[in-house]
Order: sequence, then C-alpha cells, then structure tokens
Amino acid sequence: MKRKDVLTWDEYFMGLAHLSALRSKDPVTQVGACIVSDDKKVVGIGYNGLPKGCDDDVFPWGKEGDYLNTKYPFVVHAELNAILNSGEDLRGCSLYVSLFPCNECAKAIIQSGIIRVVFEDDKNFKSDAAAASRKMFEAAGVKYEKLSYRLKLNVEKIENV
Ligand SMILES: [Zn+2]
Repeated sequence: MKRKDVLTWDEYFMGLAHLSALRSKDPVTQVGACIVSDDKKVVGIGYNGLPKGCDDDVFPWGKEGDYLNTKYPFVVHAELNAILNSGEDLRGCSLYVSLFPCNECAKAIIQSGIIRVVFEDDKNFKSDAAAASRKMFEAAGVKYEKLSYRLKLNVEKIENV
C-alpha cells in the first residue's frame, strides 16, 4: 500500500518557500518564494536578502530612522530574487510566496510572465502597496489565491553524525 498522508503540491511548494525563508538574515521578516512551471518543476527559489557583494554585517537591517540607515533601499524581496535566480522562461508559471507581494514585486511577477500567485500571509493586505499589487494583477490577468491554511515547517538542523 502506498503512503496516503503525503504533502499536496501546494504544501510541497509552499514548504520550499518556507525552507528558503529560513536563509533570510532579516531579523523581523523572513519571506520565501518558489516558482513552479505548469508541469510542476521548480524553476526558481529565493528569500529576502541583500544583493551580491553587499555585506550582511555592514548594511543596515533596521526599519526606523533615515532611509539610508534602514533596510528598505537595499533588500531584494524573495519574489524578485526567485525571478532573478531562475534564468528560465517564466511564462505560464506559478509563484508560491509566504507573504502577499508588494507592488514592486508585482511588477516583476507580471513582466516575467507568471500567471498565478499563491500566498499565505496577508497581514499587509490593507497597505497601499498590496492594493497596487492587486490592481495590477487584476489588470494583467494574474490570478492570486490565498492558501486556506498556514503551513508550519518544523526543520531540525542536520547534524553531522
Ligand atoms: Zn516585494
């Protein structure tokens, strides 16, 4: 008899997004994203972090104060990192992300040809940025859907044995 209590595809891909988020150095918000082709192949994965060459220990991670002393001008969001890390044609793909995309990521999602966004957390849904994302997704025909449950990923660090 085969196992029946396996992960669904949605759980699997959102789980990969969560695993990726565990790499984020952001002390407040860790976001992960995973891009999947229509035949269920993972074609991109990312988390929120600094661009290459920008030292995690030198650049700021705070949210308050002068703009240049906050993380905001510097951090690449998970969705954009997943798109940029892919190097594949993303037309027709789905993007799984742990937090609803901001307007800047929404632009990149639309322009890359992604047609479906599956998200989990919508705590930012009332923000102007999220409203702009929805407006653009709807105009561009990008479907967005919330997972009906929150995944919990329990990862134990692998120990050398
Ligand atoms: Zn974003």
